[in-house]
Amino acid sequence: MAEPAPSSDAALVLFSGGQDSSVCLAWALERYARVETVGFDYGQRHAIEMTARDEVRRQVAARFPQWARRLGEDHVLDLRGFGAVGESALTTDRAIEMDVRGLPSTFVPGRNLVFLIYAAALADRRGIDALVGGMCETDFSGYPDCRRDTLDALQTALNLGMARDFRVETPLMRLTKPQTWGLAKALGGEVLVQLIVEDSHTCYRGERGQLHPWGHGCGDCPACELRAKGYEDWDAAGREALVP
Ligand code: ZN
Repeated sequence: MAEPAPSSDAALVLFSGGQDSSVCLAWALERYARVETVGFDYGQRHAIEMTARDEVRRQVAARFPQWARRLGEDHVLDLRGFGAVGESALTTDRAIEMDVRGLPSTFVPGRNLVFLIYAAALADRRGIDALVGGMCETDFSGYPDCRRDTLDALQTALNLGMARDFRVETPLMRLTKPQTWGLAKALGGEVLVQLIVEDSHTCYRGERGQLHPWGHGCGDCPACELRAKGYEDWDAAGREALVP
């Protein structure tokens, strides 16, 4: 496979198949001529997200012809060795609880840092400058590696260490969960909202279960609760589009 020429008009989206990264995918497709996706297999118990990734990509291409032309390759990187180091409630069967730092046991230490280093190495090979991720510090679950300060520092480190000009773009950083639904509507209307409801996956327990108005999931893990509340608040406020 020939390496593409460097392009400032290409983006690599950190894509888990969840709600946030699905909105980021649409955001990038609206802005960049070529958009590739990367997912990470770190032994997470919501391996069902891996299936959701394929379905979201397929449905986006089917329902948005203007984006289908831009949607490029998907990459899945094996980070199970990292998953074994950062063992937590996400990757093992421990109950979800708080540790002494006030961080939930779902926190995988350094996860976003590692993801971005791998994504940057891949982007270097693919000739891509923009790394797009769904990190968010507004409703954030107490994850310090989702903070913009952390990502600014990492962006500097990546550019120094790889002699590149990467940009770590985080379109959801300042948005609340209801606003993230509003952004989805602005980008792709109710068609995109419905696609994300039906095909993206967020539940920590990896349950699909019945289809709720806000999507599939167990309905009572922290990820389902956050997703359900965000959707219900957005719906109750009139399903407004949030122009990015
Ligand atoms: Zn759940």
